[in-house]
This record gives sequence, structure tokens and C-alpha cells, in this order.
Amino acid sequence: MTQTLNYQAGDKWADIPLEQAPFGLKAIISLKNGGNMSYHLKDQLPDRMNLINSLGISSQRFYYLNQKHSQRVVTIGQNSCPENYSSIEADGLFTQNPKAVLAVTIADCLPIFLYHKSKPAFAVVHSGYKGTGIAARALELLCQELDAKPSEISVTIGPGIGSCCYNVGPERAEEFQKKYGPQVVKKQKTSYYLDLRKANLSLLSKQGVETFKVIENCTACTPDLHSYREQGPENFKLMAAVIGFF
Ligand SMILES: [Zn+2]
Repeated sequence: MTQTLNYQAGDKWADIPLEQAPFGLKAIISLKNGGNMSYHLKDQLPDRMNLINSLGISSQRFYYLNQKHSQRVVTIGQNSCPENYSSIEADGLFTQNPKAVLAVTIADCLPIFLYHKSKPAFAVVHSGYKGTGIAARALELLCQELDAKPSEISVTIGPGIGSCCYNVGPERAEEFQKKYGPQVVKKQKTSYYLDLRKANLSLLSKQGVETFKVIENCTACTPDLHSYREQGPENFKLMAAVIGFF
């Protein structure tokens, strides 16, 4: 099932509608109007604090990592605090703690949300070209920790760069095609376009996930979203993708 983001001009964040989410589990993504959600603690924080305040949550519930395009997913325990995680180098968070609100930052890479359909257990990962596969690590962790089958897990893929704009070289295209199938590369004349969403759908459905939602917005060609490719390596800003009970 596919959908696009629904928001009004001037909004700082948009809801990400989740499929079969239990107990009012909720996800959002900050928009360009929300500013820069830079992930390092030492960086300026006002935009992030404004987002946290506007979501009505305490910063003591807001967990994020030092992202490295890795495939590492960390578990947030029941009695933990965000300071213990903000410098950990990893790209996915998982928790069964209903007080924890989990965030990754993105600007073309996909935020992928995974959660159990009937238990308060959820995860979010930051998955770009380099990190593709991390959603499978998160799925394994959910299944292991909850003693669940992949069919009990629901997956929502949030906004990221689309195959409309993700132009890659032939080596990268070939590598992805080998791993995830011919549908993940679109060839136009001599150019190759990668579809990160399809790569993740292929990966997760092979593992047994049956319930998916895909948010179609492309970060590079949706003006209200930040994009590394569109804004450039010097000027790009980050959005936050957030999941939890809030
Ligand atoms: Zn696009």
C-alpha cells in the first residue's frame, strides 16, 4: 500500500500513517519548515528542541544515535536515558519501553519503521545505499526479542530519495540488482536509477514480512523535504523521523 504525506503549508512536521499500529503508536517526519535536526549533541539544538516541544514529549524520552550508515541496531532498555545512546555509533533503535520515543535523522536515506502488530514493541532504522540491510537486522531483533514471526511485524517505509532522482553509476546499479533483483534498477538511456524502497521490500518480504506501507514522497523532488542530493554536501540539512507513543 502506498501513500503520500499529508500536511499544510507552514507545518513543521507531518504524520506518517502507520499500517495496523497497536495502542496508538505514532510516527512523524519533520519538514523543511521544522529546520535542521542535526544529530550531534554538540551541534546547535534549537530546531530539535522545538520539534520535541511541539510533539509534547520530554527530551528525556527522545532517543537518537550517532549515525554512521552502519547495519547496527541497538536496544533501548526499560531504565535507560538518552544521554547513554547519543554517542553510540549505530543506525537503528529498537525498544519495548513505551516511554521511549525513537528518532533517526535523514536527508535522502530512508527511515524504516518496524513494529509488532499487537505488542508495544517498535524500531526505526536509517537506511541508505550503504546501510541497506539494516531493516533486516531490525526485523531479526524484533522477532528474536518478542519470540515473533515476521508475519506479525508491520513495516512502513518513510520518505527518502526516489528512483526518479537517485542516479547511480553502473557498478552500484549492478551490485544492487544482483542482491535485490532486476526491479530495483531503472535504466534510462545510459543512466541508472536505484529504487531503495523496492530493495527493502524485496529483502523484508523474502524474510516473511507481509504488511507494508510505503510513503512515496521523494526527498529530492518534494520541496518541503530536506535532501542531501538536492541541497548539496555543504548545505544539506537533516529531518527527524520519529516513532513512539506520544
Ligand atoms: Zn525525485
